[in-house]
Amino acid sequence: MVKDNCIFCKIASGEIPSATIYEDERFRVILDLGPATRGHALILPKEHADNLYTLEEETAGAAMKLARRMAIRMRERLGADGFNLVQNNGEEAGQTVMHFHLHLIPRYKDDGQHILWEPRKASAEELEETRKQIAE
Ligand code: 5GP
Ligand code: ZN
Repeated sequence: MVKDNCIFCKIASGEIPSATIYEDERFRVILDLGPATRGHALILPKEHADNLYTLEEETAGAAMKLARRMAIRMRERLGADGFNLVQNNGEEAGQTVMHFHLHLIPRYKDDGQHILWEPRKASAEELEETRKQIAE
């Protein structure tokens, strides 16, 4: 299903033109308009889901398989030295477009980007408390 007024639904369906690098029945892969690096692309499912929590499990699996294929191809074609997959859920996590998308970010030596986090310290107690909260 397509959601009214959703920009990525319109792009995924082709109603709004985009720099498309791959398309099949379920997905469109487009170049990001504000790329972190050269080749930064987005995998968009054609079926609307706001985020990872509501994405069909089957679609989630297919998106990751497609990410793998695209990463192999982009690394080769663009000569990337590394590759980040990024996927944001919720404003606090940096999601700005509320239609699930998976970022494909080719990385190059000295590209000047900072995509990874600053590690913090966690006590053994915190780790155990957290482990219990999730696992039990
Ligand atoms: P988010 O922050 O939600 O994870 O990522 C949204 C991404 O979509 C951003 O990297 C932004 O540059 C990109 N973006 C937003 N609007 C458009 C658009 O209309 N076309 C394209 N190609 N990318 C867009
Ligand atoms: Zn949508």
